[in-house]
Amino acid sequence: MSYYSTSTMLSSSPNSSSSNNSSSSSQQQQQSTKKPVLQSLTLSSIQPIHDVHLQAVSVKTTTKSLVITEKDPGVLLAGKLYTLVLSWYRSETTYICQNEISHQHEERPVATLQCMCCKRSFCGKQCFLHPWHHQKHRTEEPLNDKDSDKYETYQAIQCEPKNLRTYIPTKDDIGRVLRVKAQLFDQSGVVPLSKPVFVETKPVSRFPNPPPQRFLIPYNNPRPGSFQFTVMSYNVLAEMYASKQMVPHCPSHWLDFNFRRRTLVREILSHRPDVLCLQEVQADHYDTFWYPELQQHGYNGLFKKKTKDVFTGAGKYSMDGCATFYRTGLFDLVSSENIEFRDLAMQRLQVHKNQNLTRMIKDNVALVLFLRPKARGFYPQGVNEPIFCVGNTHIMANPQYTDVKIWQVYAYLQELYHLTKQGSIPLVLAGDFNSTPDSGAYHLIVNNQVPSNHPDLQTKHSIQDMHWKHDLKLQSAYGEYNQKSEPLYTTKTPLFTGTLDYLFYTPRSVGLLSLLSLPELAPEEMMPSEKNPSDHVALMGKFELRLPY
Ligand SMILES: [Zn+2]
Ligand SMILES: [Zn+2]
Repeated sequence: MSYYSTSTMLSSSPNSSSSNNSSSSSQQQQQSTKKPVLQSLTLSSIQPIHDVHLQAVSVKTTTKSLVITEKDPGVLLAGKLYTLVLSWYRSETTYICQNEISHQHEERPVATLQCMCCKRSFCGKQCFLHPWHHQKHRTEEPLNDKDSDKYETYQAIQCEPKNLRTYIPTKDDIGRVLRVKAQLFDQSGVVPLSKPVFVETKPVSRFPNPPPQRFLIPYNNPRPGSFQFTVMSYNVLAEMYASKQMVPHCPSHWLDFNFRRRTLVREILSHRPDVLCLQEVQADHYDTFWYPELQQHGYNGLFKKKTKDVFTGAGKYSMDGCATFYRTGLFDLVSSENIEFRDLAMQRLQVHKNQNLTRMIKDNVALVLFLRPKARGFYPQGVNEPIFCVGNTHIMANPQYTDVKIWQVYAYLQELYHLTKQGSIPLVLAGDFNSTPDSGAYHLIVNNQVPSNHPDLQTKHSIQDMHWKHDLKLQSAYGEYNQKSEPLYTTKTPLFTGTLDYLFYTPRSVGLLSLLSLPELAPEEMMPSEKNPSDHVALMGKFELRLPY
């Protein structure tokens, strides 16, 4: 027995123009007409998933490569307008694993390979090599030669409106191969300019089931009648940092933001945090996805984009940021503050007098919200319903810059001390601090100071004569809970496994009631993956406001 993958089989069928064919025909046409000729079409993923947007991303023509936009079907090539027409098809065959024995008690999975002899489809090698398959070969008639020349046939998918750049595979598509036809027409859309090009996908897979449920584990009993609320911290891995080159261990269809945004929101809404602090939210995704999506579920949000760092000269322009959402049914927004560490460094450090300190000027930010519970009557008469403060930050990532991390955390805590009226307003801090529990930055937060001999302060450019301390009394929620030690990891990738994300709170005015359990990953399991949409773990704590404070 031998097998081949379904996509390989289909791309060798005469119905589809292989890339070789289309490029040779395009060369001939280019010589005769000099009109642009379509050469290839690229999809957002070659492995479509039920209910996940599949996009025709770009086309390559003899004139230039073009990114396809949803709004404008007209494409400008060599100074003239043309019309690109996209049509979507699905295979008549459904490729579902045909091994009846191994999937007796479950929905049969989508096939990934096919037997060359009997044409049966299988979900993987295990089902292909299963005795059930051998048995079929022994008992059934040999392959009819006439059938061996049969190729896949496709039916058109009726998309409304027509010529869609994006198609969302339906339940009917599960197990079927999708085919996209792209063709260039003149501006009127009537006269075709050249032969169409085709792209076939792998069979559409089912949307994966959620990972094992995580639970709130109790820590303290609430005080009678106190106001309780949950805060989540989640670095959601911006698409701009989730390229195949940057995250090579994760298959690209699970890295695709069209897929991850669905599993991210599914995970967030399964815990329904009252306050949600996200890091690595890409600015365009905040507008087009995060804000409208979470608004539908009863949240309002604020976003603070990183400031462009013009001083490093690395030519790297970052445009992700921190977004904080809160449930509008529970809270009124009293006020908010944006913190830009670049500005703080320039104001406080007299950078212009010391060239070594330009390394302190980085584009990281923090977003601070003051919220007031809408519900009244939690506190004795005569006591105003309290406001509380939630800080959300993403500290600089580069491990070479431990002194900058300490400075950013120091400047942040100084600002918070001032904003919370000398620490009198209850405070919860969420974020990706990019600092491990043995770091100087972590030491500063929970122990109020960094010893001058801490290894993180021994860089040759360090700020001299600085008293690294603060007057907020902060505790780490997960650090307190887990036998006085932080989790083993909040990020787990082949490059780095460790704890970088935290929830801190002021125990004088905020009580910790419970914490979301941590996911249990197998030793070889890395993030992101099918089950884990980010390279970071979502943390969540349930807190109460305490009086008096
Ligand atoms: Zn077979
Ligand atoms: Zn199977």
